[in-house]
Amino acid sequence: MNRPSGEWIVGNGVVADGAGTFLDDGALHIRDGRIITVAPTAQLRRDRVEFIDVNGRLIMPGFLNAHHHLYSSLAVGTSPIGPTPDFYRILTNMWWPLDGALDRESVYLSALVGLTDAVRHGVTMLFDHHASMGFVRGSLDLLHRAFAEAGIKGTLCFETSERAGPVSLEEQIEENLEFAAQASASPSVRGLFGLHANLTLGNDTLQRIADRKPADLPIHVHCGEDAADLEHCRTVGFAGPADRLAAFGLLSSRSLLVHAIHLSERDYERVAEIRPVIVTNPESNANNRVGHMVRRRMPAYVLGTDGMGCDMLATLRAHFLLGRDQDESWTDLQANVFAERYRVQELFFPDTGRFRPDIRADVAVPDYIPATPVSPDNLLGHLIFGAQGGPMFLTLADGRILFREGRVTFLDETALRREARAVAVRLHERYYG
Ligand SMILES: [Zn+2]
Repeated sequence: MNRPSGEWIVGNGVVADGAGTFLDDGALHIRDGRIITVAPTAQLRRDRVEFIDVNGRLIMPGFLNAHHHLYSSLAVGTSPIGPTPDFYRILTNMWWPLDGALDRESVYLSALVGLTDAVRHGVTMLFDHHASMGFVRGSLDLLHRAFAEAGIKGTLCFETSERAGPVSLEEQIEENLEFAAQASASPSVRGLFGLHANLTLGNDTLQRIADRKPADLPIHVHCGEDAADLEHCRTVGFAGPADRLAAFGLLSSRSLLVHAIHLSERDYERVAEIRPVIVTNPESNANNRVGHMVRRRMPAYVLGTDGMGCDMLATLRAHFLLGRDQDESWTDLQANVFAERYRVQELFFPDTGRFRPDIRADVAVPDYIPATPVSPDNLLGHLIFGAQGGPMFLTLADGRILFREGRVTFLDETALRREARAVAVRLHERYYG
């Protein structure tokens, strides 16, 4: 693995985390994987330490993608195998046949391709929600290997669902439990308990999961993505998806509830009481025509892409534009984009997030040189209207350079994509079957 590591000063830029640290001409001194000093550039130039000059760009904490499906990386270019007039048939005619066709090599290459996209876009922490119903046992280990190669942090889980039958269901439960136990020793990956969604899980299954899952192992679940999820919960005796999960004792302040669009009043009460992590995915919601989360009903939220790439600045811009009719204040938007994101990161990796002494050196430098002054108050505006998205100038995680001068450093991306195309041809043949 060719990965530069060592001691760096990244400077001559606007050091800004949106949560208290702001230096108009600042620099970071990075050593042994951590940020040891944040100071004005003039104070930080050192002999014998490589100075990486960002020429006035923004120097920010690495980004979080709080909900993604790396297994979708090789789906680009495919079409549904049947009509998709509603959300359920988007699943049955696209995503379920695709994840059923995944095998060992396609799971691994999907992950690597998706992770190179992540580092290209400054993402240094990624919460993945994995499904490969034809290859369950050992799939999370393979993803872990890809994360270790890329060098970023994240959480992994398998989307438990009854849709592949009872034998598979047991394997999925085991895969989650075994991986979570084993990952607790990893510096870079945590295991969560993945649930696909209420709508593919019966009451007996939820009870069995509640009985078997350690109480402190958080769930990661699609929650109220479509009206069908809410309806299903009502038909099996609950007020809605959050209410049902809470009734089985599955909901905690570290649970990831994804989408949170179609909820009952009781669901909103449960969210306010328990305060789980809420993840919204504006581009995926628009693509699937499922509506959008009501922002004023949520205590806070973070952003995910739900399989729609890994460019968090583009996602932020889409989120801003798609929410223009929601009356969310600039202050609230800022609090969610920065403070809530750091709070969520710290739930799983306490020494990451906003810039502070001895933090793990996860850094994103967008390839954007502001042409107007930057301040703590207009930083968000620079990201939405100025930077907009696109590849970074520089990405570091744990003090290692992962992306620089338009190239990922940990593998030969041209060769990876060539290999992935060959694997994708075989995957698509099985998918169209
Ligand atoms: Zn999803």
